[in-house]
Order: sequence, then structure tokens, then C-alpha cells
Amino acid sequence: IAGKRRGTGVAFFDPEHQRAMQRRLDIEQRLKDALQNDNIEIFLQPKYTVEDSRLSGFEALVRWTDSDLGRVFPDEFVAVAEQSSLGFELDKYVIGVFLNIVQENAANNRKVLPIAVNITANHFADTGFGVFLLNELTKRDLHPSAIELEITEGVIMERSRTAYENLALLRENGIRIAIDDFGTGYSSLSYLRNLEVDELKIDRSFIEEVLTAHGSALVQSVIQIAKAFGITVVAEGVETEDQLNALRSMGCDYCQGYLLARPMPAAQALSLL
Ligand code: C2E
Ligand code: MG
Ligand code: MG
Ligand code: MG
Repeated sequence: IAGKRRGTGVAFFDPEHQRAMQRRLDIEQRLKDALQNDNIEIFLQPKYTVEDSRLSGFEALVRWTDSDLGRVFPDEFVAVAEQSSLGFELDKYVIGVFLNIVQENAANNRKVLPIAVNITANHFADTGFGVFLLNELTKRDLHPSAIELEITEGVIMERSRTAYENLALLRENGIRIAIDDFGTGYSSLSYLRNLEVDELKIDRSFIEEVLTAHGSALVQSVIQIAKAFGITVVAEGVETEDQLNALRSMGCDYCQGYLLARPMPAAQALSLL
């Protein structure tokens, strides 16, 4: 009987579960402070052409080290924020810091390469998001081509009307949209039929396998489909020369990864220009 009861209604007393809940609460609490105290930083990871490893842009990645919790990774705290009321707050904060960096870049460099920012699904589906972002650009006198947005497949799959409206509005105004972690969502071929985005970022898990027979077939197919649709392709998480060579032979457009550059403080990244 005891065995039968386990795992039914007693999850509350499961110490593992309780630790996870406590961790979430801690992160939420500390993150709130961090946002108030400007304790959150943005790193930039350079993006390169596959053809000749030329710098082609950057991706903004949020970084947070808490005095108690130590370094917390974005995969963890972005998810916690999204499940709490802090989701928009974090995104808006990140966008603010991000736009300051874009503005500084536009002011100091003759050559302006686009900087991409990750937008959570909830925020992208928010009614005011598109207008908010366009206003922010106007306020700062920034050209839409100075930025790019990365969203996940989930945003497209959920078919939320406001998300589509935002997508259309932002693209009409010249902002490029990328699908991040492509291939890891519940993608189906039918959603590729009307894929109205500018860029696909093939998830790192596929690049890890790009030297195997099946892996290379998959990546090659995605690149071909994207090309047929006029969509550019970025390979995420390129770590070895062999992977880069394979991607080059497949005609992949851009790449990111530790092989070429890790995420680094914004000033350091922009000095590469
Ligand atoms: P992502 O947008 O797919 O970002 C790529 C992640 O892969 C980054 O992890 C980056 O540091 C890491 N990476 C890049 N090259 C390599 C490589 O060669 N090998 C390996 N193993 N990893 C590589 P990071 O910075 O920890 O971010 C994780 C995720 O958290 C991001 O995945 C994104 O979904 C989310 N995230 C990060 N920053 C933000 C942000 O400012 N706003 C939002 N909403 N989400 C963010
Ligand atoms: Mg990304
Ligand atoms: Mg990604
Ligand atoms: Mg990712």
C-alpha cells in the first residue's frame, strides 16, 4: 500500500521537489533585487560568416552573478522569471541595457553590425510589444537594421494572434527575426509552409552531430529548405574546425560558437569591430 501511495498525492513532502521549489523562490527573490540594483549584465557573442570567418554581428546574452547564489545561468533564471511576474521586467531591463549598447555601437563605429537579442515567448506575444520596441528605437534614433530579435519555435507554433501581429509589424518596419534553437521545438513540416521569418538558428544539438551520417543529412536538409525560402541559416555552438568545414561545404551562411568566440563583455566584443 505504501508503495502504491508513493508518487500520487504526496509530492509536497518530496524533499527533492521542495528543494526545487525553494531554489525557484530564491532565484525569484534575488532576481528582483538584481533588477532593482542594476546587477545584471549583458555579454555579446560574435557571429561570423561560415565562408570566410568574417565578423557579421553579435548576440546579446544576459549574465547574472548573485552574492548568495553565485553565478546563475540564463537557462535557469530566464525560465524562473517567465513563470513568475518578473518575466516582462527582466526582458524590458535586458532590452534597455541592450539598446544602450546598440546606441553606443552606432555612435562609435562607422561600421554597424546588427546585435540580436533573445525575446521570451510571453513577451513577444504581449499586445504592446511591437509598438513598445519600435518606440524605443525611434526615441534613440536607431535604425531597425541595428538590431535583430531571436524567438523560439514555440512562438510560431502557438499561433497566438498578437504574436503574429507583432511579427508582421516588426518585420514591416525592417527588423529581422530569427528562430532560435531551430529543430528542438515541436516542429512539423506544415509550419515550415508559411515560415515568415528572416533567419533560422540551427540548435547546437544538431551541430554536435553534424559529422555523423544522419546528423549531416539533417543539417544539410534544413539549410536547403531555408535557402529555398530565402531564409539565412546560422549554426549554433560550433566548437571544432571539422564542424565548421562541414558547414561550409553545406553552404551554411553564419556560425556562432566557442571555436570562433565565446560570449564576452560588450565593450570587448565591440572593440573587435
Ligand atoms: P541561446 O539564445 O540559444 O544562446 C546560445 C547559448 O549557447 C548561450 O548560452 C551561449 O553562451 C551558448 N554557446 C554559444 N556557443 C557555444 C558553444 O560553442 N558551445 C556551447 N556548449 N555553448 C555555446 P547562455 O548564455 O547560457 O544562454 C542560454 C539561453 O538562455 C539562451 O540560449 C537563451 O535562450 C536564454 N537567454 C540568454 N540571454 C537571454 C536574454 O537576454 N533574454 C532572454 N529572454 N533569454 C536569454
Ligand atoms: Mg539566442
Ligand atoms: Mg539558440
Ligand atoms: Mg539555446
